[in-house]
Amino acid sequence: MAVKQIVMYPDPVLETPCAEVTVFDKKLAKLLNDMYDTMIEFDGVGLAAPQIGISKRIAVVDIDDDMGTLELINPKLLEVNGSQVGPEGCLSFPGLFGDVERPLSIKVEAQNRKGKKYIIEAEEYLARAILHEMDHLDGVLFTSKVIRYLEEDELEGVEAND
Ligand SMILES: [Zn+2]
Repeated sequence: MAVKQIVMYPDPVLETPCAEVTVFDKKLAKLLNDMYDTMIEFDGVGLAAPQIGISKRIAVVDIDDDMGTLELINPKLLEVNGSQVGPEGCLSFPGLFGDVERPLSIKVEAQNRKGKKYIIEAEEYLARAILHEMDHLDGVLFTSKVIRYLEEDELEGVEAND
């Protein structure tokens, strides 16, 4: 198990668009395993590579549903539908939570750790979790999308995305 340190805002790596992954090797597999361990350690529902200081288009998402852990490499948004507003937080902004508007459902194409392309359709909370991570890969932080920050008495049951 290898838990990495989370990069905190305002580290510039968090606002730098990440590079495409072109090599699918053992090093990538190890990085994905480390990202998973780090996500679990810090109770996130996802983690993007720049959050551990690696500027590559890699994210993991696990909202603890029957989809299991999604490994999103070079993800691309193919379709969006509807809209939802809900709270988000970010491990790179400890203690900060705010409502963000997102599409209600999405269709995403990504590659797995072997480079094989696959399609995922997601809605509601899973769509939100994936989109939060995909934004990280473009150097976009949730604070740029917050409609309203949550007060301390509104935080019960609200968890950080990553
Ligand atoms: Zn985040």
